[in-house]
Amino acid sequence: MSSNNLTLKQSIKDKARQLGFILAGVAAPEPPEHYHVFEQWLAQDHHCTMDYLASERSRSRRADPKQILPECRSILILALPYTPVSKNRSSALNIAAYALGDDYHDVIPPRLQQIVEFIEELVGHPIPNRFYTDTGPILERELAQRAGLGWVGKNSMLIHPQAGSTFLLAEILLGLDLEPDEPFPTDHCGTCTRCLDACPTQCILPNRTLDARRCISFLTIENKGSIPEDLREPIGNWVFGCDICQQVCPWNRFSAPADPALTPAIALPTQTEDLLLLSSEFNQRFKRSPIKRAKRRGLLRNLAVAVGNSGNKKDLSILEKFVQDEDPLVREHAQWAKEHLTENEQTSHRHKQ
Ligand code: SF4
Ligand code: SF4
Repeated sequence: MSSNNLTLKQSIKDKARQLGFILAGVAAPEPPEHYHVFEQWLAQDHHCTMDYLASERSRSRRADPKQILPECRSILILALPYTPVSKNRSSALNIAAYALGDDYHDVIPPRLQQIVEFIEELVGHPIPNRFYTDTGPILERELAQRAGLGWVGKNSMLIHPQAGSTFLLAEILLGLDLEPDEPFPTDHCGTCTRCLDACPTQCILPNRTLDARRCISFLTIENKGSIPEDLREPIGNWVFGCDICQQVCPWNRFSAPADPALTPAIALPTQTEDLLLLSSEFNQRFKRSPIKRAKRRGLLRNLAVAVGNSGNKKDLSILEKFVQDEDPLVREHAQWAKEHLTENEQTSHRHKQ
């Protein structure tokens, strides 16, 4: 690799840093070594209803990045920081830290486009490219490890020793030769088991994957139907995603400050009475937020469960409204929540006697 090429790679990384990416590395477009783990995960149905992950087209692309872009010669992997989870320990209702700001699907792609344009300007001609942030059929954490960005922790997150895991990954496949970086060499989880011990639904698997069927992030976002009854209480007050396995991770004391676009822009109501506003204002309130992915019915379903877990009898009034909601999914969860709240009230009353 010529020194010109190494200078080009450094210029690209400098540009990425200017655009707010705290980590940048290059991987070769070789098939991922751990692809078989993904196949096992699918075979055991751990992807639940996320059928798009199991399609032939998606699998062949994940197995080989050149199926996405045949001209691919290198892959640039980037990380943009969101709100540190230590600053998201909260309140009556909890949402995942990455979802506190603007939707990263809107924030990140224009910056990736700027990097591509910067590269094309440097080399003086168009470069075949394809970029993604969470939207593409690519095993990005393995690529990130290969690009030197960190190790895949027991909680399945990519972790960097100076940045923790509170960042979103993005990747640009390039029809351009860039020298691959050295893979991240070590696993710093050691004997720690804090994430496994803290996960409320015990869905973290020994092979650094998750059983999505039980993960609160899946249950409150991708899951479009009913939440299994035995998992409703463990969800606690999480109404969109879950950060627990990151909150307990000691490496997140090193989280970087959030990118300004991903700093908290929305707030859930602190007064349960205001929850009713959400049902009428959903589209307006969340149009720039990742929360819109849950849709009104999904968010109200989750709110009903969280209110049912609140242990606060005053919240019964809100559930009285939710049981009359236009959507049967919301009504069913609100009915469960009413019964759960009443049962818990009776139990705590008995304990006090
Ligand atoms: S996001 Fe929550 S439910 Fe999912 S693995 Fe982490 S702690 Fe468990
Ligand atoms: S909590 Fe411990 S075991 Fe889990 S990812 Fe962090 S360091 Fe690894």
